[in-house]
Amino acid sequence: MAAESLTVLKNLADLSQFEQEDPAAPGCPLPVSSSKTADTPPARSSTGSIPEIFHAKKSGGGEIRLLKTVLSSACERNCNYCAFRAGRDFHRETLKPDGMAKLFSQLNQSGIAEGLFLSSGIVGGGIRTQDKILDTADILRFKHGYNGYLHLKLMPGAEKDQVLRAMQLANRVSINLEAPNPVRLQKLAPLKTFAEELLKPLQWADEIRRTLNPLSAFNLRWPSLATQFVVGGVDETDLELLQLTQYLHSKLSLTRVYFSPFKPVRDTPFENLPPENLLRQVRLYQAAFLLRDYGYSLEDFHYSSSGQLPLDADPKMAWAREHLSENPLEINTADRIQLLRIPGIGPVSAKRILQSRRQHPIKEAGTLRAFGIPLERTLPFILINGKRPDRQPQLL
Ligand code: SF4
Repeated sequence: MAAESLTVLKNLADLSQFEQEDPAAPGCPLPVSSSKTADTPPARSSTGSIPEIFHAKKSGGGEIRLLKTVLSSACERNCNYCAFRAGRDFHRETLKPDGMAKLFSQLNQSGIAEGLFLSSGIVGGGIRTQDKILDTADILRFKHGYNGYLHLKLMPGAEKDQVLRAMQLANRVSINLEAPNPVRLQKLAPLKTFAEELLKPLQWADEIRRTLNPLSAFNLRWPSLATQFVVGGVDETDLELLQLTQYLHSKLSLTRVYFSPFKPVRDTPFENLPPENLLRQVRLYQAAFLLRDYGYSLEDFHYSSSGQLPLDADPKMAWAREHLSENPLEINTADRIQLLRIPGIGPVSAKRILQSRRQHPIKEAGTLRAFGIPLERTLPFILINGKRPDRQPQLL
């Protein structure tokens, strides 16, 4: 590998640490902490002159060694929170598509990186920048024969044909909505337009998945979709974020919505704002998963008068305390949706309960514990054979 090019790639990859990441995460450099799951930092391996590689979770289980990088750390936009914003004084680097493809291919063939997450600062407009990302992917797939994991970022303002091409080349595509509505976005990113530049590409991606046969897609499957919000900095409310999250999951079938707590970056207009409380991120993920996987609606959560989720209560536990404390659910007759309302019971343990009940009724709490259910969370809200279960310490 050419040492000079490798140094440029290392610098680009180091800068992209601002990006939230797992193989499911979106692109566009953000001054937020990286994380491979909702609330844990990613493991990174340092390999001397080689760019840092992230150990990110795969959706089907296991991990992948992922190179996160950008084609260019130059950007003509001026998002108020972003380390890459135009005019900020730091050394910028740019690689051409064939250079990036060649370097990643070498890292892949030498076993250092198994997957690529590719984004870029915007230079010459979103369409031109998108073309360079697509060229890189094209060279990787068809010149270097790369068949591994590829997450491509959609640039703000990308055209529909470009979205289609990205979907034909990638395992995942994403675009950062950043804010829940145009008013908040204007404060975060004054040069971006919410509906036309950011939401539209996601709507096109959904339309493509619904209406076109994936025969032209990589692996004959359309890629999954994701987005990311910056949480904090512009007084957006949890209710605003969750309203849009619900729309993205239910109408556009997004696989993941990421919430990235704002952290101030030196020499940006937001440098003196306080960092966002990390617990807010946890509550947003909990609520978003309840909306996506557990049948909850926005009305099931309590909000403060300013539209925020309480930080001191897990939203599922709060709902159960209000609705199930005096009206516990019978574990032998509750249907799946009801079981999912009980703290400590998720989709996997609900399935185990339903399978077990088909053989014989559940008679004791120990059976639930054998299913991996944390009894201290579950027992206050259930009946077993018509009786409140014993909550003796030895059972918990
Ligand atoms: S478009 Fe905005 S968020 Fe993306 S790199 Fe440029 S300044 Fe940063």
